[in-house]
Amino acid sequence: MTPPAGDVRVFADYQGDFTEEADVVVVGSGPCGAVVAKELACAGARVVLLEEGPPFTPDDFELDGALSMARTMREGGLRATRGYVMPTMQAMALGGGSLVNSAICVRAPESVFARWSEGFALEHTTRAELDPHYDAVSEFLGIAPTPENVQGRRNLLFKQGCDALGISSESIARNVRGCRGSGECFTGCRSRAKQSMDLSYIPAAIRAGARVLTSVQAQEVLHEGDRAKGVVGQVVEPLTGRTSYRFRVNAKIVVLAAGVMATPVLLQKSGNLANRSGQVGENLQFHPGVAIMGIFPERVEPQFGATQGYQSLHYIEEGFKLETLWAPPGVLAVRLPGFGRELKDRLAELPYSAVWDAIASCHRSLGSVRARRRGLDPLLTYRLDPEDVKIMNRALWVLAEIFFAAGAKKILPGVHGMPDEIFSLKEAEVLRDRPLKPTDIVTAGNHVFCTTRMHGDPDRGVVDEDGKCHDLENLYIADTGIFPQCTGVNPMLTGMALAHRTSGRIAEHL
Ligand SMILES: Cc1cc2nc3c(=O)[nH]c(=O)nc-3n(C[C@H](O)[C@H](O)[C@H](O)COP(=O)(O)OP(=O)(O)OC[C@H]3O[C@@H](n4cnc5c(N)ncnc54)[C@H](O)[C@@H]3O)c2cc1C
Ligand code: SF4
Repeated sequence: MTPPAGDVRVFADYQGDFTEEADVVVVGSGPCGAVVAKELACAGARVVLLEEGPPFTPDDFELDGALSMARTMREGGLRATRGYVMPTMQAMALGGGSLVNSAICVRAPESVFARWSEGFALEHTTRAELDPHYDAVSEFLGIAPTPENVQGRRNLLFKQGCDALGISSESIARNVRGCRGSGECFTGCRSRAKQSMDLSYIPAAIRAGARVLTSVQAQEVLHEGDRAKGVVGQVVEPLTGRTSYRFRVNAKIVVLAAGVMATPVLLQKSGNLANRSGQVGENLQFHPGVAIMGIFPERVEPQFGATQGYQSLHYIEEGFKLETLWAPPGVLAVRLPGFGRELKDRLAELPYSAVWDAIASCHRSLGSVRARRRGLDPLLTYRLDPEDVKIMNRALWVLAEIFFAAGAKKILPGVHGMPDEIFSLKEAEVLRDRPLKPTDIVTAGNHVFCTTRMHGDPDRGVVDEDGKCHDLENLYIADTGIFPQCTGVNPMLTGMALAHRTSGRIAEHL
């Protein structure tokens, strides 16, 4: 039943139980897994890439935000933490998060790596050592700053506000080719401009001979002593999640790239594998994001323009990064205050609106990922540290300043206990002066980290600097779960750079 090299299989192709043989099996086709699959296939390895989600084409994309989330994301996009309740989205599709993300590509600053090296006994994870890996990924994906002609007014108003206040800002570098500024990154790029993994790294892996199996869920890592032997799992029907045929992949090397939530669950379901340190599923971190909507006197037409085209790294050492943002109106509307007529009036203002957000580097706020008795959906707990709330408090005030400097006539801060609408910077001072509690702010956390963290000391971390599990000879992890701490900037590119480095190390052992 082994298909020819360079094959891709979808749900309809499975006709019974099957077994595959490989040099390397990679679980998860998100940005990190896709890099490993391509690099190792190009190095001559027989690679099998497993992905639980199906492939999506432009005909499959739904512009309605809720429908799109239900189709492309785990738990319909409604997954949330307990303790401090925060929604968190994980895609389930060929290409993982890259299918629905905004394509923002940022290198983590030197200071992040300095903190990692010092706090986690890492000797080779400096910015200088990762730069060649960043370069390789950037070149392959054609990462470049967003050109002015696709920024749209929503993004340029942000720049205008920053300029007026002397806050540095810049056009966001993204993995796109020929972006038309349709603002649809969240529901899937219909013009195929976004270089999501299903259009970039995965086809390159297939060209180099990788076999890609979609709609298959890895359920257990097989192992004997200190060696992984492969994985077993079941075929999963797209959309319904019904499981059917069983499969097994025997492999010399196993790479888990199933993401921060799924990789620790897989290890826990495999007899608490690779967990001598007790750190599997611990240290869960996010970049909780807060956002403000501003209403301008003239029409902004925020639906036009690159989804996230402008950013400011001005406050990065204070712990927050500012960005412009757009999402389907139905997704934005859940944050609007009011009901009935009042809500209707606010929705009518959307053409005059812009939404800008701040992501916060919350490394004091920790949570955990635990396998449930049934299935692979995790139980997530999280606590937002009051010191980290102060960062968001400050970020909300800075966003308010930028909005009024850009000419907004009012802002909707979306903060509990604050006015629904604020009409001047003077009135907005309440955002600066009143300390917020964790429950006052509406946050979302789509950047996730640390549940299988890298640490030089095997007693304190799950993987070493090569991404190899301390406890096993041939089990690697390549997803953003290996970050020892959150980065403070968007994580995809750093995850891919680390995966690129891991691929090189694995290739040495083939
Ligand atoms: C809406 C949104 C917007 C974002 N925007 C940006 C952005 O602009 N820039 C940025 O840097 N970051 C962004 N992020 C975060 C970024 O997408 C993630 O950090 C990145 O996708 C992580 O890559 P990964 O390979 O670690 O995991 P993932 O992308 O999560 O990929 C893991 C893959 O493994 C599969 N999988 C899981 N379990 C199994 C299993 N048991 N068997 C088989 N397959 C399995 C999943 O279906 C998934 O496809 C965004 C995230 C979201 C949700
Ligand atoms: S803004 Fe539109 S065209 Fe540009 S990458 Fe996103 S979805 Fe594609």
